Amino acid sequence: MRTAEVKRRFLAHFEKNGHTVVPSAPLPAIDDPNLLFINAGMVQFVPYFLGQATPPYSRAVSVQKCIRTPDIDEVGKTSRHGTFFQMNGNFSFGDYFKSEAIRFAWDLCTTPVDKGGYGLDPDRIWPTVYFEDDEAFDIWEREIGLPKERITRLGKGPNFWSMGIPGPCGPCSELFYDRGPQYGEAGGPAVDEDRYMEFWNLVFMQNIRGEGTDKENYPILGDLPAKNIDTGMGLERMASVLQGVDNLYEIDEVRPILDRATELTGVKYGVSKSQVASESHPNDVRLRVIADHVRTGLMLIGDGVTPSNEGRGYVLRRILRRAVRAIRLLGFEEPAFPHLFPVARDCMSPSYPELESDYERISQYAYGEEEAFLSTLRAGTTILDTAVADLKGEGKSELPGKRAFELHDTYGFPIDLTLEMAAEQGLTVDEKGFRALMTEQRQRAKADAAARKSAHADMSAYGTFLTEHGPTDWVAYETLESDAKVLGILAAGKPVESAGEGDIVEIILDRTPFYAESGGQHADAGSLTGQGFTGSVLDVQRPVKKLIAHKVQVTGGEIAVGQTVHAAVDPEWRVGARQAHSGTHVVHAALRQVLGPSALQSGSFNRPGYLRLDFSWRKGLSNETRSEVEEVANRAVRKDLPVAVEYMPLGRARELGALALFGETYDEEVRVVEIGGEWSRELCGGTHVAHSSQIGPMVVTAESSVGSGQRRIEAATGIEAYQYLARERDLVTRISEELGAPRGELAERVSALVARLKDAERASAKLNEQLLGAEAAERAASASDIAGAAFVAVVDDSHDSRKLAQAIRDHIAQSRPGVVAVAATKGGKASLVVTVNAAAKAKGLSAKELVKAAFGGRGGGSDDVAQGGGAPASEANGLLSTVGEQVGRIVAGE
Ligand code: ATP
Ligand code: MG
Repeated sequence: MRTAEVKRRFLAHFEKNGHTVVPSAPLPAIDDPNLLFINAGMVQFVPYFLGQATPPYSRAVSVQKCIRTPDIDEVGKTSRHGTFFQMNGNFSFGDYFKSEAIRFAWDLCTTPVDKGGYGLDPDRIWPTVYFEDDEAFDIWEREIGLPKERITRLGKGPNFWSMGIPGPCGPCSELFYDRGPQYGEAGGPAVDEDRYMEFWNLVFMQNIRGEGTDKENYPILGDLPAKNIDTGMGLERMASVLQGVDNLYEIDEVRPILDRATELTGVKYGVSKSQVASESHPNDVRLRVIADHVRTGLMLIGDGVTPSNEGRGYVLRRILRRAVRAIRLLGFEEPAFPHLFPVARDCMSPSYPELESDYERISQYAYGEEEAFLSTLRAGTTILDTAVADLKGEGKSELPGKRAFELHDTYGFPIDLTLEMAAEQGLTVDEKGFRALMTEQRQRAKADAAARKSAHADMSAYGTFLTEHGPTDWVAYETLESDAKVLGILAAGKPVESAGEGDIVEIILDRTPFYAESGGQHADAGSLTGQGFTGSVLDVQRPVKKLIAHKVQVTGGEIAVGQTVHAAVDPEWRVGARQAHSGTHVVHAALRQVLGPSALQSGSFNRPGYLRLDFSWRKGLSNETRSEVEEVANRAVRKDLPVAVEYMPLGRARELGALALFGETYDEEVRVVEIGGEWSRELCGGTHVAHSSQIGPMVVTAESSVGSGQRRIEAATGIEAYQYLARERDLVTRISEELGAPRGELAERVSALVARLKDAERASAKLNEQLLGAEAAERAASASDIAGAAFVAVVDDSHDSRKLAQAIRDHIAQSRPGVVAVAATKGGKASLVVTVNAAAKAKGLSAKELVKAAFGGRGGGSDDVAQGGGAPASEANGLLSTVGEQVGRIVAGE
């Protein structure tokens, strides 16, 4: 059975049983500050489980795309872990519970294939339950009819679930499939996890837990008022069972990538056929890693993640690099992604058609990243070689941990690569030191995460408002002014009764005309006034869905909970905000018109007078392209295109080709903003002008890089655009006056000036050289003689010491040993350059040794030229005489 069919049957089974089919959320977990990626089907339903929002359905089913980076080291070694996988889940929000959940799972697994099920042999399914959960045990035994010895009771670790923080929790029951005696010993899941493979986890959310010390130690505070069901069935694991293959890298959605890798490398897969993946050949593991990581990379980029050095982008980068590394270890050193990614795309696009239409963009990032890493490998290799040469020079044989860490941290050089390459050179690596530095770094990251977590905890205050008063009545689209009641005041995150002059507090109103920052649009500015009270609104945010909080500075009087206030948006501000936001859409459309549809926006920000837009593009825009974008945008303004706002189902908006942001989750009903019909059509909740002419002029003010493959374009809008141009004009006027040239001739005049300046510099350099030559000849002629060797000692601050020393040396006859020492006293410090000629070297004179003699062992350079510095200026002459004495000693053969 193909994976797509396994998925289809799952959805059909639960839909038939009253579940609403909910699409997968995108991989980046943008609503949860503690999570980089969605790692389970339940994540998008968390607000329902926590009671922060009311679900629009009581039963749901989904196939969720998941990433689990902690499993990365298992990939290829076990038969069942992918970094990317799909979790099929059914959910009940206060509706059915244990008995039905178990029954639904059992029925789907055991219904024969020709009747729409998976047709598993009932005798090969082994459930586990939490050891105290007699209820679940009884259901398996009495309702399903399994013999007692097939039901395993397990402890808290595997069979009690919580989110790791106070909140809902409960026991689980997991389903394992017996893959047969060739995979290991009999006896059930407690005995062998390879033979008995977990494929489905049923979580019975029935309790509330308190604060705990670790994953397993926390008190159970009581029962949840409404019990929930959350389940997860590994789609790939089920597919591997139903396709009768050894592991999930061999299913239809993955195997073709693996096969392509064997073709490229000529390495055979599965030569040492052992049934247990973890025991098989390292090359098999590498091939599986390649297949898994390429697929994961494809899915991540598909969902808008781009390689970078932090956060999600870093996870992607690491996964792609591991794939490159694995294929190199199999002997393939050229770019491999152009061969592998198309195969992965063809495997996955039947379920995710956007991978096909978006492939151009996806491949740009993937291929670009591989090329970049290949050159990193080359550069890193050079750096490692230098380090190795230095070490050998010093007679050492261990690469310090710090060097290995640098290679890792700065150049993304994996430690195993460093180890291997050092070993090739006969060196060891201080791995302990390396690991210590890694741990340090990880702890820093942990501390950051903890800081983010505490920000999360403060959210509870908002949750309370929402539960008590319901959503804020938000009238920003309809009006700029409204009376409102103060529902709550928060000072430093804690509820207070009132606030006085000078205080900065957050105010929750029952109704507000203020636009809360979102979709890249800055919050509105304005004021709150009431009986004996004035306040100015500094910021407006939506800390939890549907609740708006105003950050207000009290400018006079006192404000108290329960009071009525007048909330007024600054109308001038809103005009500017509209112009800037519509301008952002226009610039986006113009960019795509000029560069092509793959120049997609990845983020934006706008406030009155200013907009910026980040977009996917690999190289900088030329001046011509910038002007072209600007021109297209301004022409759209001149055409006075109508701006229309429409609400429609998400599916319809996608059909119309409305542009949505990657990684953004949207409600089922979306707001679509159109400018000139299909000329620009985007999902957007912002405030807009009614006609494009109201945007006014737009001027592109900057274009820059913001990370690999991401560019940023910035523009001034409305009156700011005019002011920007006016400033530029004034600048030109000033330059024109300064040069005494009419504006039309400025460019040529400046080029001519620059050219003349360069000529003058060249002439002066030449002259200096001649002077230096003349001076050097003179100095060489007056060299003193030390037992037949010519010795020149000079204190000079007007030339480059090194150049002067070498020029003097070149004026000494080649047959005669010659030593030149030039001291300088610039900046209050004496420095010294010594150079010797070949005849002097033959006499055993070394520039480096002479400098060292002068500086008591310090100094650097070669036998030909060397330098030292840092002595007090008054010692310049002393340094020179030390060199002279040393020369005398050596020439005399002492
Ligand atoms: P395991 O112990 O095998 O790693 P788990 O306990 O971490 O599994 P759950 O968190 O219960 O798994 O996830 C629910 C289901 O998702 C599992 O029963 C399994 O089928 C699937 N699953 C979990 N992790 C992976 C993975 N890395 N690759 C593929 N499927 C997975
Ligand atoms: Mg796991």
